Amino acid sequence: MKKLNAKGHYVGPHSDQHLLYAPWENRDSLLLSKSEFEADLMANIQKLKAIGVTEINKFVAPYEWYNKQIAEWSNDLGLELYNFTHRLKDCS
Ligand SMILES: [Zn+2]
Repeated sequence: MKKLNAKGHYVGPHSDQHLLYAPWENRDSLLLSKSEFEADLMANIQKLKAIGVTEINKFVAPYEWYNKQIAEWSNDLGLELYNFTHRLKDCS
């Protein structure tokens, strides 16, 4: 992680304990409170800062599984929540 960061790659948070935020079968509900969400994510951010990461403004949710509430809570911490996109096989 230190090497990636030193080479200029973006290194960002992905939750400290890799929490599941919403049940698989009911994505619109939550399995944690906002304070639990923030405590876990801030623990992750502190560890990143400890290895020299300074620019932390984007966030991929654990399991890439989240909902609108998680996106809003992320924004409240100054983080833009994003997700992977699938590469098209032929986009020529
Ligand atoms: Zn993950």
